[in-house]
Amino acid sequence: MHCYPDRRSALLAGAAVAAGALTAACGTATAPKAPASAAATPTAAGPAPAAAAPGPRRFAGQPVEIGHGSRDRPRIALTFHGNGDPATGRAVLAEAERAGARVTVLAIGTWLDEHPDMARRVLDGGHELGNHTQRHLAINSMPEEEAYAEITGCAQRLRRLTGSIGTWFRPSQTQYATPLVQELAQRAGYPHVLSYDVDSLDFTSPGAAAVIRNVTGTIHAGSVVSLHFGYADTVDAMPPLLEELARRQLRAVTTTELLTP
Ligand SMILES: [Zn+2]
Repeated sequence: MHCYPDRRSALLAGAAVAAGALTAACGTATAPKAPASAAATPTAAGPAPAAAAPGPRRFAGQPVEIGHGSRDRPRIALTFHGNGDPATGRAVLAEAERAGARVTVLAIGTWLDEHPDMARRVLDGGHELGNHTQRHLAINSMPEEEAYAEITGCAQRLRRLTGSIGTWFRPSQTQYATPLVQELAQRAGYPHVLSYDVDSLDFTSPGAAAVIRNVTGTIHAGSVVSLHFGYADTVDAMPPLLEELARRQLRAVTTTELLTP
């Protein structure tokens, strides 16, 4: 690993984000594309995707809120907030695939509305797709009805695009869900809530070197790493990060693989 681009100006923008202002605001001018439905079988709900994506599962012995997998096996899960310029998401996925890694993408509903083709892109790469709320607001402090609508709004979009509500739910703007949000996620069909134990802080745009340090400094077997689509540092960090994980013989697998005994 040598040097990485300095992104001081981005760091300033990141400060507001770190203060809790992270929203689904990372838009682009790219026009939305229609989802691929070439091999679709028509249904009452319209054209179905080529194959229904896997749905949520209950993992015996795991708590409702999962922050990591087994510490005894050399595997980790890279999990991404799905938002922002789809070019960064595509670049992250391409780097992961080049290294034989599988990742988990928690998509924001409004992002799926703008870029419906990303749902299939994630699944086609052998990755996992999940729910990261409809608008990425501070879900823990919302009234019950509104919080539930945030979960089901994104779930409906996932179901329409992929045939399932996705394998995981991760709450927005928080590492941990309140007991109410956990209950609402379960009511919406997700037996677990996906937290994480390693925070890359990539959304603060600290430079790719810092993103790599944040991850490699705290990761160990079983870790679930929080990362984000939509940031250049994350794209730059991926190849050296994946190289370092390989050097440590930590295999990047989907969250379901991480938790499957
Ligand atoms: Zn997020």
